[in-house]
Amino acid sequence: MKSVTVTRLSLQKLDIPNGQSISQDLRVRGDSFFENGYLFEALECYNKSLCVAQTNSDILSAYECRSIVYLKAEEYKLCLDNIELACKYCDNASERLTILDERKKACLKLMRFDRPNCDSEPWNFFRLSYDANEKLPFIVDCLKLHNNKKFGRSIITTQDLQPGDIIAIDEPFFKTVTYESAHTRCINCLKPNKLNLMPSTISETAMFCSEECMEIASKTYADTTNKMHDIKQRMLFEALVICGGSFSKLKELMDASDLKKETIFSYDLSNPDDPLFKQNLLKSSMSLAQAKNVSADVINYLSHHPVLETIKDQRDKEIAETFLLRCFRILAVNSFGIEWLVPSRPQDHTKDTIVTKRAGQALCLFGSLMNHSCIPNVDRVFVQNKFVFFVRRPIFKGQQLFISYGSLFLDMPREIRQQNLKDEYGFWCCCEACVRDYPTSAVYPWTGVPIVISELSVANGWKDEFKKNCLKIVKKQNVWSQAELCLLMVRNLYLVTAIAKTEPFIF
Ligand SMILES: [Zn+2]
Ligand SMILES: [Zn+2]
Repeated sequence: MKSVTVTRLSLQKLDIPNGQSISQDLRVRGDSFFENGYLFEALECYNKSLCVAQTNSDILSAYECRSIVYLKAEEYKLCLDNIELACKYCDNASERLTILDERKKACLKLMRFDRPNCDSEPWNFFRLSYDANEKLPFIVDCLKLHNNKKFGRSIITTQDLQPGDIIAIDEPFFKTVTYESAHTRCINCLKPNKLNLMPSTISETAMFCSEECMEIASKTYADTTNKMHDIKQRMLFEALVICGGSFSKLKELMDASDLKKETIFSYDLSNPDDPLFKQNLLKSSMSLAQAKNVSADVINYLSHHPVLETIKDQRDKEIAETFLLRCFRILAVNSFGIEWLVPSRPQDHTKDTIVTKRAGQALCLFGSLMNHSCIPNVDRVFVQNKFVFFVRRPIFKGQQLFISYGSLFLDMPREIRQQNLKDEYGFWCCCEACVRDYPTSAVYPWTGVPIVISELSVANGWKDEFKKNCLKIVKKQNVWSQAELCLLMVRNLYLVTAIAKTEPFIF
């Protein structure tokens, strides 16, 4: 499998030609991506260039470059926005102003012929398939929390569910963008905004989708914005805001969740304006399962965590340290990776160019209540800044919902899978695939007809293929082998990612 190599730049290590600024150099790299048709990577470079810009000319050029990409991508509104931003950094008599003005005219002209694209709104497709739970409007009503000796907490359904059914749309309560993907998503809310992000004055690796997000971040993380990529640190600061800045309140909350193991099902979370809304979410997250074993290295690291240095009071410091350790234990077994699949491009020589990239990390209060199976019946896809959970194969009334914490049975033999799960999560898997020892598959799951970015116009084709596959899974569930069925489910995951237009599918 050949992969699309996207150069990740370390700003310190750039080999920059004499007389050229870092910002300029990044722009040149962006230009070369643009010339080769890699619009997403071009925008990412221009965003980096914007974040390190030292002069008005560099800022102007970065916005100007973005406007060119958006024009090419037929994102006319974004093109105009960026022209306007560029103009702000332009001298009145400048030649560049004339160029910008001409581009604006061209863009406005094209806009007139632009057909409204009703397909571009992912939430038209990603909706709950059944009535929502009244108290938990982000999940369907037929899901119930169940306590069971073997599994502990689990989620079951009170009605039959079909492949393709959307059962939950859950915005992670705590989340962060990885350092590597910092220039592709708002660091506060994680919305990608088609990479039309604003730089911050606080950090070179923090970009925002709106003034509002920038303000929240500046208030919440104060002078530690630089370390917003560390989810544990963010959890501490966000929890403190929820507790009105009081460390003793935070301790009270942690102690309470030790006694009463409450989940989102314990609360009415239908009103985000309820003053207790966030506190209840925080309590639910503190009650999630925790990793039992933590190495001495981790304890040592957390006790010297840079954020602790900023806390003066010794008692407060101890509470913060306990909280960070608790976050670590919770994340160790509940953390969800935010990933995207890099699709094929028409210009790629080989058609099989699927790469998964890690964009962030999140704590998902509904998703964390589902147990693992190597042959799961539920999958997830990240849409804008929410996890959408959908059904992979038929689930019957009374059955439990399972997601995969790691590998599918297709990917590796039972012994390795089980050892990995034991090491990472502390349990021996006894799912159907492990009990019956389903054979792995040598066929690479993404193979089949590749999805190429230029097929955006036929997005409905992806939806049709997804629906057809769902029907086929029902029809062939007792005829095909588990591997054949599972390959189709993996294909479906790829299709929903394309339908969600998770970047870089946007461009
Ligand atoms: Zn945002
Ligand atoms: Zn298993």
